[in-house]
Amino acid sequence: MIADQATSHSHLTTEVLDLVLQYRRSPAETESCANSRCEECASQHADRIAHAIEQREPIIFVLPAFPGKSPNPAKVLGPHADMAERQSLAFLDSLCQRIGRIYAPGAKIVLCSDGRVFNDVVGITEENITLYQQDLLTILEELESDALIPFNLDNAFAGSSYGQMRARLMEGYSEALETIQASVRAGGDAHRLYCGLTRFLLEDATRPGMALSRTALQKECRRRAYEVIQRSQAWDRLLAEYFPRAVRLSIHPQVCGSRKIGIHLMDTQDAWLTAWHSVAVEIDGRFRLMKRAEAESLGAALIYQEGRPSHYKLEVRHGDAL
Ligand SMILES: [Zn+2]
Repeated sequence: MIADQATSHSHLTTEVLDLVLQYRRSPAETESCANSRCEECASQHADRIAHAIEQREPIIFVLPAFPGKSPNPAKVLGPHADMAERQSLAFLDSLCQRIGRIYAPGAKIVLCSDGRVFNDVVGITEENITLYQQDLLTILEELESDALIPFNLDNAFAGSSYGQMRARLMEGYSEALETIQASVRAGGDAHRLYCGLTRFLLEDATRPGMALSRTALQKECRRRAYEVIQRSQAWDRLLAEYFPRAVRLSIHPQVCGSRKIGIHLMDTQDAWLTAWHSVAVEIDGRFRLMKRAEAESLGAALIYQEGRPSHYKLEVRHGDAL
């Protein structure tokens, strides 16, 4: 390769990384490298991007996300994908288009919908996972996106029942629970993920008429958090095998130098909030994620689209702090 070409490839790699890293999701409680040109973070991903650029191939990103709507009616509008997913997917599509403007072969994001991997643990029915995945396909069609590619457990293990798919995933790719528990106890990202998941599971399980005491519920949610991590890690390994050269994205906050880039798909005040744990609220022409109960307590109006609840709209008086 001639020197000029090598320089332009490395410039392009930096530009693409800068584009993606400006949407980084970092853990709030740690000192984060807010600087989008953090060398430590860039070094984890630059080689994969540079490799694609050298080959003049699209840069492939893999994002395990969009599992299915939370079963908690205080957080979401129901089991269907709605404006929150539409805005998040439109954002990802626009990110690929922006990469395409500086690098002609462009970028693709493989959306690895992981709901089928752990829905039985988090309390979402198989039917609602199917419903949600169909909604995502409809949104992708409407966006006319050829940059976002859906991939789920059904693609990996076609022809098996859902239970068999999960069993095959765990047989082939899972780690012992004891190993996971040890890494959570060691702190860092694993511990943060465990705490975040326990919080979500507890929120989703806390509903009127609950038979379990708060303490029993907490214990149960901690056990389930380990199971979700075990399933997600198995899914992660399968994805690494299917997409060995892809740049790994995550919807969870990631510390400096992580092998994944944690990214925000939409504006939110909460580093852990995602489209499937919240509703989209339109404020001054922009969408922000909030829990449904929060949107309602602010007096936001529910907006329907095609006969289905879609999002909220909040009229802001001048001077209101949000
Ligand atoms: Zn960093």
